[in-house]
Order: sequence, then structure tokens, then C-alpha cells
Amino acid sequence: MAIPETTKFAVITEKFVSEVHERKIQPLHDDQVLVKVKACNLCTSEYGVWNGARLGKQPLPFAFGHEYYGTIAAIGDGVQSFKVGDTVGVGYDWCGECDYCKRGETSQCPHRGVKTIASPDGYYGGFGCGDYVVKSARALCKMNPDIDPSQAAFVEPLGTVIYGLRKLRIQVGETLVISGAGTMGILNALAARQMGCHVILTEMMPKKIETCKAYGFDVIDISQEDPVEAIKRLTNGHMADAVVVAVGVTAANDQALEMVKEIGGRILMFAAGYPKPELNIDSNTIHYRKLELLGTFSANIDDFRYAAEKLSTGEIDVSANCKNKLATPWHDTVR
Ligand SMILES: [Zn+2]
Ligand SMILES: [Zn+2]
Repeated sequence: MAIPETTKFAVITEKFVSEVHERKIQPLHDDQVLVKVKACNLCTSEYGVWNGARLGKQPLPFAFGHEYYGTIAAIGDGVQSFKVGDTVGVGYDWCGECDYCKRGETSQCPHRGVKTIASPDGYYGGFGCGDYVVKSARALCKMNPDIDPSQAAFVEPLGTVIYGLRKLRIQVGETLVISGAGTMGILNALAARQMGCHVILTEMMPKKIETCKAYGFDVIDISQEDPVEAIKRLTNGHMADAVVVAVGVTAANDQALEMVKEIGGRILMFAAGYPKPELNIDSNTIHYRKLELLGTFSANIDDFRYAAEKLSTGEIDVSANCKNKLATPWHDTVR
């Protein structure tokens, strides 16, 4: 495979404006590889920068794209775990030497690469929505080369879901309610079902309700039925063992407190919301109900590896999310 000298990539330069820019591909360090990107998803967080909702959080120019996969086009001299031509999903960078990395908490590694620190040529972001990306080899996960490109690009978002569900300590046989059947709600549902939970989703948009049904999930149409009453009915009054809030709005936070079981329930705040959502609860209630309110964000390398493996084997199949969204070369989607 001939390696070009430059790569093109997509950049948000201001609200509602994205452009294609070009930069030199830097020589690889010993531990780095060059990934030829084959598909990249657009994340809600990136859409929020483009439409202005998250502009205060993300400096510009923003070379977005962190949900991608590809094949290895070149490797640094010290790379042994991969070879040219391997199919790989992409997680976050980590150093392997700091205290966080030694404990497996690679998402907290100070070398992770943060979207608010600029590259030497003045861009912020992961550059995933582009032709080529230079990455440290340890950030990558091997994948099945025959996988559908539109599914393979789910390694990063699915990894963050795995991290959250592990933190929530879901158990086989538990009832898990997921508020919101957007892409991340559905990924939570698929992963939790694969881990042995009984999953119920709540949603109001007809298209998303259809997606839930296509996957065979129980789904409550909250435009038709009160979700708390529906959970009561579906669980014979037991209510949910745990709730994942996958939509960032106050109403969903407050409903979670009512949908989770009276004593010892766990609630995972999966989604951020803009404007900032609230949670209306007093500390006595948390105390007497022995509630656990958990936060989650990002993921460790083990979570990305688990996600890459489950997508590669088809044990987690996201195909109904990819319908009508077949992998399009990224430059056809950016104008
Ligand atoms: Zn994302
Ligand atoms: Zn580290």
C-alpha cells in the first residue's frame, strides 16, 4: 500500500461550518501505526459543536471524529502486536506507565489526548473523520476483517457503554430500564442483553420505537403510557433493578428515581444534556432508599477490546442502527 505524504480530514471551523483541510502525515514513532480510516460515525457531541450547543466546551478548529475503524497502512519500528493490513478499531491513547494505566484505568491516563489541547498545527480533536490517522498501537483493538464497516465503527461508543454497565454492576437476570432509545440507548440495551439482563427501553419518537422493536426489545411508548406505571406493570411491581439514563433531560432523571426499585436501586447517568439537566432529590431519600447514583464517561482499553470482540463475533449486532446509513466515504458527507 503506497503511503501518501498528506491526509485530508474534516474540520468544524465555526458554527454550522465544516471544511476539508489537508496536513502532512508525520513520520511514525516506534510505537505508532498509521490507520487508513474505513468508516467514522458522527457522535452527538460533535453534532452539538457543529450546531453551537456545545461550542463553549470545545475550542475550534475542531478536527472531529473519534468513532472510527480502519486498516493498518504502516507500522513504527517497535510495533509487534499488529502488522500492515490488520483491521482495527480505535480506542483512546494511554501511556502504560502511569498509576492509572497500571491499574487498568486507562481512560484517566494524562496522555490520553484531550479534545481541549491543540495539536502543534493548531487543531483540536481526534482527526478520525479523515483519510489517515497516526495512533499509538496500544490504543487499537484487532477486529474481524470481514466485519461490515458501518458496524465496526461502533467500537468507541460501544466501549463507553461497556464501561458504564460494568460500573453499574449489572447481573444476569436483572431488569434494566434504559431511558431514551437513541443510538447510545440502543447500544446500552444490546450490551446489557448480551450480558444477560432483561431490558426495557422508554422512548417517544416513532422511528426509534421501531428500531427497538426491530431488535426485539420491550419498549414503552411514553407518548402513550406513563413510564412509571408501565414499568410497574411489566415487572409485577418489583420495578427496575437499575436504570440507565441515556437522554440528558431533567424529566428522565426524575423518572429514573421512580422507575428504580424502592430499596438499593442503581441509576447510571449515561448522557450529558445541554442545557444542563437537573436531578430533584434530597439526601434523606438517597440515604433511606440506599440509592446508588453513578456517573460514567469514556472507557478503558479493556472495554474497547471487549466491544471490538463482541462486534467482530456478531454477539453484539448493531445492524438495525446501520440501516439506510451504509458506510459512506467520509468526504462525501462533508461539504
Ligand atoms: Zn462519541
Ligand atoms: Zn498512563
